[in-house]
Amino acid sequence: SRDTAWTVTAGAVALPRGRGVALSFEDITAVEEAEAMRRDFVANVSHELRTPITALSGFIETLRGPARDDAAARERFLSIMQRETERLSRLVSDLLSLGRVEQAERLRPTAAVDLSALVAQVAAVLEPVAARDRVVIRADLPDDPVTVPGDEEQLRQVLTNLLGNAIKYGGADREVTLTLGAPDRHRELRGPGVRLDVADQGDGIAAHHIPRLTERFYRVDAHRSRAVGGTGLGLAIVKHIVNRHRGRLRIESVPGQGSRFSVILPAD
Ligand code: ADP
Repeated sequence: SRDTAWTVTAGAVALPRGRGVALSFEDITAVEEAEAMRRDFVANVSHELRTPITALSGFIETLRGPARDDAAARERFLSIMQRETERLSRLVSDLLSLGRVEQAERLRPTAAVDLSALVAQVAAVLEPVAARDRVVIRADLPDDPVTVPGDEEQLRQVLTNLLGNAIKYGGADREVTLTLGAPDRHRELRGPGVRLDVADQGDGIAAHHIPRLTERFYRVDAHRSRAVGGTGLGLAIVKHIVNRHRGRLRIESVPGQGSRFSVILPAD
């Protein structure tokens, strides 16, 4: 790809004349790559927004026309419209969160966050969602509180997204387990850290998808993601927040048995 990049950028090298701007081939390649990613992202966002908007305007038309006097159809269409509207609004808030965490990536969060309390709170908030699918949430917490330097709201979002996915993709009548370890050494980190696992007993994820799961809008099964109200941004947000905390995200899965998402955060 180096050769390709050379050909693509060769024309651009002559451009910055007169003001002593010197960009290396590598810089220009990086700039162009960033620009291509931005264009992809804008195209993806437009597509993601357009789909529910198209559906909504179709239903409005039907409600004004053919379904005008059909009470049952009206009810059905209105509930689909409500679901699509909720998905649109989740998409907009996920986009805003992603923008915020991408921007703040270089800042170092420093407040002490009690992860044990956070796990308990998030589990309680998602309990009713889990109950709807008869999913049982188990939390395995150490006796002593576990704190890490971090941004509480962002870490709450990490937990919410991972637990939410485990419930959505873990399958009905199953268990989801949250395990928080006591501070320890982890080979992924230089110093001491804590590890939080979110494990489900769902269908799992085929190995070739795993490295791409944290890409914005990457989904294993777009149909399923849409059906469970996904935006395709949850894991991208998780990855940025974990990076910002200088932590690691590890994803392991056994197809047919379940998945485990582990977050390892530095503790000092
Ligand atoms: P979405 O809003 O689609 O859930 P995410 O970024 O949270 O977006 O996840 C990306 C994709 O990763 C999902 O569409 C799904 O295919 C897959 N995925 C995430 N979590 C799990 C899980 N616990 N089990 C199986 N697949 C999962």
